[in-house]
Amino acid sequence: MTKITRPKLPKLLEVKIYKTGQTRGADNDVIYQNRVSRSSTVLIPYSVWHNHLIARNMEFENGYIVLIPPSITDLHELEREGLCLGNNSLYFYETRHDWDNYNPQHRHLLVATSRKAPLGGHFVARVPATNSTSDGSKINLGFTDSSLKGAGIRVYEYASSEQITQCSLQLEALFWHCYDAMDVIVASGMSRENAIKRRESVLQECRELQLLDYDRLRSARIVNADNVTICPLCLEPISGCGFMTRLSQVAGREVPDTTVTEVSLFHIEELRPGVFNHRPYNLGWGHHHCNVIAKDSGIMPTLIRLREIVERNINAGVDIPSTF
Ligand SMILES: [Zn+2]
Repeated sequence: MTKITRPKLPKLLEVKIYKTGQTRGADNDVIYQNRVSRSSTVLIPYSVWHNHLIARNMEFENGYIVLIPPSITDLHELEREGLCLGNNSLYFYETRHDWDNYNPQHRHLLVATSRKAPLGGHFVARVPATNSTSDGSKINLGFTDSSLKGAGIRVYEYASSEQITQCSLQLEALFWHCYDAMDVIVASGMSRENAIKRRESVLQECRELQLLDYDRLRSARIVNADNVTICPLCLEPISGCGFMTRLSQVAGREVPDTTVTEVSLFHIEELRPGVFNHRPYNLGWGHHHCNVIAKDSGIMPTLIRLREIVERNINAGVDIPSTF
């Protein structure tokens, strides 16, 4: 396949779309890698491995590591689950209780050193500090060096390279479906001619890949009846400015509150273990604030909750003004 060269997008938009292929942030005290590709080595909790066949039947491009609770000491049990300690699984110490009761040093276990099999050891530890014992300092062992920080990514964040590419492509197409996309992109420095070239080329490639199925996008609340990109929670058409809030400020554009208008990646079905949700028809662009509200419970439960809140206020006699 020949690589298509397109006129470059403004930096902020390019970065925004590129980042959708990466996992979210993680700090040093957790086991996850910070902002890496969604195709990286996947960490699968033992319970997910045991209960969700989908995780077991997946082909992970860069492999997986199953995290085993240290209390499971019967290696035959692990074998029956298709697990080999140090090859596709590690003990994960995350509580002081496990560290004290199944201490890895007493069991002659080694700290893991690789994300690919063989993993170079048998365990990894992220035990928070506690004040209740004399030596209660935190225990972070394995995958702590700056060159090898974090053992892998959350299983439900995984996507194959192909899926990542398709998602990015459709997400860019959705930018071009914002009602003011062309004006915003020209205002941010791209020539109209290049913008049109880029837009047509992206839409064409989407069609070739069977993406941009408007019926599916509408039923997922990603575009409205006019095929304009909307926020999946509040259904308001999304402004292209929301993709370039920092730029808008620099250019002196009128943005009353950048945190309200800011646009972020929106998962229609929320992320949860056992389900892979980074797929084209599950991703849209939404207001940052709407995303925060709907993130954990999903769109319908959030709408029900919001209605309850408004109705309860009205029933309590609160006169809700139309503007504030
Ligand atoms: Zn919204």
